[in-house]
Amino acid sequence: MGKFKDIIKKQESRKARNDVIFIASLLLVVLVLACVLFFSAEEGNTVRVTVDGRLFGEYSLLENTTVEIVNGDGYNLLIIEDGKAYVDTASCPDGICSSHRPVSRNGESIICLPNKVVIEIHTVTNSGPDIAV
Ligand SMILES: [Zn+2]
Repeated sequence: MGKFKDIIKKQESRKARNDVIFIASLLLVVLVLACVLFFSAEEGNTVRVTVDGRLFGEYSLLENTTVEIVNGDGYNLLIIEDGKAYVDTASCPDGICSSHRPVSRNGESIICLPNKVVIEIHTVTNSGPDIAV
């Protein structure tokens, strides 16, 4: 009888140890995910361009490219270079967009009011099924 109890006790303690390992690894996964989310939130990776509220195009910040945004008489030349996006030349009279410093972080944007152009940095998260926990 005593032996039987011992066996059960041993099994229970092993179970408890497994729980600790499980919780520890779970915490580790959460920690890693938090780091990934934190760093990806720091640096955006997609440039979203809308003209007059409509999606004009989406571009990766990681690929150097030049985008001509034409809307009627309006013209903005968007340059994506070294992980940053900026407006090089624009037809607007105020020139606010072309004098704006380059944007690269999530949520940053360059807005050209006369041409109704919004250039916004977005971080694409939860895009892969492996991120959904
Ligand atoms: Zn402008």
